[in-house]
Amino acid sequence: MHHNHSTVTPSAHSAPPLTTPPTAPSTITFADLSLAEPLLRALNEKNYTVPSPIQAKSIPFLLQGRDLIGIAQTGTGKTAAFALPILQRLAAHPAPATPKRPRALILAPTRELAAQIAQSFGAYGKFLKLTHAAVFGGVSLSPQIRALQRGVDVLIATPGRLADLERQKHVSFDKVEIFVLDEADRMLDLGFVHEIKRIITKLPPKRQSLLFSATMPRAIEDLAASIVHNPARVEVTPDAPTAERIEQHVCHVNRHDKAKLLVHFIGKHPKGLVLVFVRMKHMANKLVDQLAKDGVKAEAIHGNKSQPARQRALENFRAGHSCVLVATDIAARGIDVKGIALVVNFDLPEEPESYVHRIGRTARAGLDGIAVAFCDSSERNLLRAIERLIRRPIPVLKGHPLEASAQGPREPAAYAGSGIDRPHRPAPRHGGFRSHSSSSNHRTAPRTGGVGFTRAGFARSGGSRY
Ligand code: AMP
Repeated sequence: MHHNHSTVTPSAHSAPPLTTPPTAPSTITFADLSLAEPLLRALNEKNYTVPSPIQAKSIPFLLQGRDLIGIAQTGTGKTAAFALPILQRLAAHPAPATPKRPRALILAPTRELAAQIAQSFGAYGKFLKLTHAAVFGGVSLSPQIRALQRGVDVLIATPGRLADLERQKHVSFDKVEIFVLDEADRMLDLGFVHEIKRIITKLPPKRQSLLFSATMPRAIEDLAASIVHNPARVEVTPDAPTAERIEQHVCHVNRHDKAKLLVHFIGKHPKGLVLVFVRMKHMANKLVDQLAKDGVKAEAIHGNKSQPARQRALENFRAGHSCVLVATDIAARGIDVKGIALVVNFDLPEEPESYVHRIGRTARAGLDGIAVAFCDSSERNLLRAIERLIRRPIPVLKGHPLEASAQGPREPAAYAGSGIDRPHRPAPRHGGFRSHSSSSNHRTAPRTGGVGFTRAGFARSGGSRY
């Protein structure tokens, strides 16, 4: 792929190659999937040999030209699952790039995700003569207009900016052969439904269509029905994606103690990156300031920041210059950073699905990860909604230094009959903790993947700084 549009795909240097696929290995190789030689060569350069499950399942259908619904979240390798067959199909029928008329259109919910997808097309299409560009808001229009004017084969876009460009006649969709709606559930959460429906009406009826979503609520099924025709359906990790591989805890804490508790965790967690989720943009900034007072260097990433500022914060985080990133859901969606050892839900999300997306930022590429949720007394209902969604109780982390004394632990029906623990025992006074669901399975070895957070490590910490 030519790199002549690098000005409009500012992103993110590539993450180090992995030798293991994102989820459980399958026995087939990329060569078994009938991928063309230039693609195999590019995969080889990235050291990808074994397709991830979503890739192994989707690529054969997509190479046949089938429509597809993919139920998979970021981290499963879904980008390559659609990028590889798209590149192969476009390369198989070369057509001169026509100004303003892309042959493949990929819609992504956020700028960061669009930039990452563009980067993947660049990497996988390295040995093909196809062009790509990403267009998204928050940056100047003119380089994007120029790229479209030159003509690109693959256009990756966020819906808002794409709709603007289309209204101004800088792009038209009448030559689109392949259409992808990525992270459809997030698109709806972010209120893009109107733009998406408008864009769909402008697509040629004869096309290949793909829809990916981490969750499949009714609204997505309805949207899918208006996009895909006789689709193949592939699903990886149904119901609670990635949740199995992530060690999860909830801490009951008073609202005004949350920042102190966060500092405590960061202090106990010297290795690895920490991603912190907050609900509101202003809270992200406030928390960064509070952390600075405690000597913790953190950066914020949210929708009010300019695109260059967001990219910069992300780069600093990725490179480990700032080990803590405070993010809102919108800004963090699709962030693919390896080495996130701990995800903190500083605020519990309003929508339980977001919890699954958030904790999925750790446990990337088959590694284990840890997620801790801070729950104050006003958030009990949100916690219950999450537990319903993931169909299991989140073990309560007891004995942390800022444990909310007022409320004590929950008496959850979910624990009844587990025979493991008694919910109403007094909290330990030392700095260790017991976890309701796993106290019988005490683990002292470090987690895989250099996570650097061990139960023993936490327990060893003794007294608190507060
Ligand atoms: P995605 O779900 O598309 O965001 O991909 C998650 C991460 O896994 C990205 O960093 C990819 O570069 C990486 N990846 C994708 N496919 C493979 C594979 N077959 N083997 C190893 N790593 C992969």
